[in-house]
Amino acid sequence: MTGDAGEGVGRAQVEALFTLAYGRRPAVVASAPGRVNLIGEHTDYNGGAVLPIAIAQRTWVAMGHSRDGESRAVSRERGEAGAWRHADARAAHAWWDYVAGALVAAEALGGGRGAREVAVASDVPMGAGLSSSASLEVATILAALALEGVPMDAAPAAAGGGAACTLREVALAAHRAESEFVGVACGIMDQFASALCREGHALHLRCDTQEARAVPFARGVLIVDTLAPRALVASAFNTRRAECDAALAILRTRDPGLRALARATPQALADARLPPPLDRRARHVVSENQRVHDFVQECAAGGMGERLGRLLNASHRSLRDDYECSSPELDWIVEHCVARVGIAGARLTGAGWGGCAIVVGEEEALRSVVPDLSHAFERAWGRAPRTWLTRPNAGARIEASA
Ligand code: ADP
Ligand code: MG
Repeated sequence: MTGDAGEGVGRAQVEALFTLAYGRRPAVVASAPGRVNLIGEHTDYNGGAVLPIAIAQRTWVAMGHSRDGESRAVSRERGEAGAWRHADARAAHAWWDYVAGALVAAEALGGGRGAREVAVASDVPMGAGLSSSASLEVATILAALALEGVPMDAAPAAAGGGAACTLREVALAAHRAESEFVGVACGIMDQFASALCREGHALHLRCDTQEARAVPFARGVLIVDTLAPRALVASAFNTRRAECDAALAILRTRDPGLRALARATPQALADARLPPPLDRRARHVVSENQRVHDFVQECAAGGMGERLGRLLNASHRSLRDDYECSSPELDWIVEHCVARVGIAGARLTGAGWGGCAIVVGEEEALRSVVPDLSHAFERAWGRAPRTWLTRPNAGARIEASA
């Protein structure tokens, strides 16, 4: 199990990698975390809300100006080094697309047009659904801004004030890097979470208005990766999106002003008598959005245990039965963990059809459930799951500037 200390990746490692690759010390270092979503699943593309936290694992980016007009990137996690000319940067279907795209996106914020040398080191697992990609984009943009001496303003209200740049602008630029440069159609949650999360807080993000605010959340979160093959995720996901669009189209024949599926009321759903399975899909989206709202209210009121747990468990049931995006392994984890002392609740997190579950509760209880959970999972499924115990961590930050 990986604890809060990560795997020994940090400023020293990324500086050493930079020095090894380029023969000098980096001018700046920035870092940004991965994220996990507490509640609000399949709500983002339906105009609803999500509630991610930053996890303990982070991506570290060291950067300096290039001296010969060529941009370069090396990664501790990838053998192949990238090289490209910034002026005609385009996706090369390689890992450094995320770096090249982030540098292009950073230009609009004052990140400069020159060539850069970049080193990357990370303990965010890649492709596990914990958003290593957003952490890489966000850390790269922050480093690029630090390299040009662009001041950062943490207060979103200051946007448009002076030359200072906000973390919200960094998040939006990182999202452009992934959606426009790399070419991955994704919502805004990952980049907003990586850029804007705060220690001890979750980020309540409304995906339709992009309003974001920190909500106190002081529980431990155990992430359990089922390591199930996820070959069918993309097609199943596209089917769900089409079903949500179809449900919205029917609802709009009755209420043309309805802006998004997540905004429909339970009464409107009942009145519309949607055909199956659209009725169940819509019921999940509407009830899940309500659960995010209730969860946030409970956190703001200082609630910790039982009610939050009930909402998490209800979210899982809704994803399993109405949205039909769970898997036998995910259901097994939830059943194995709920109703234990010190554990509030559990649910699948991310798109589903495999991937990760989260278990929320007292850190000590989570720590002690891991050995038994891992052994029992291995007996049942023939492989040990990966687990990470975390608590809400800080978002992106500049670690060293020129
Ligand atoms: P996730 O964001 O859920 O981890 P993605 O498929 O969106 O999964 O992003 C993973 C990709 O991001 C990797 O395949 C790689 O191209 C890039 N990436 C992320 N972190 C690193 C890193 N530390 N070094 C190199 N590439 C990375
Ligand atoms: Mg990603």
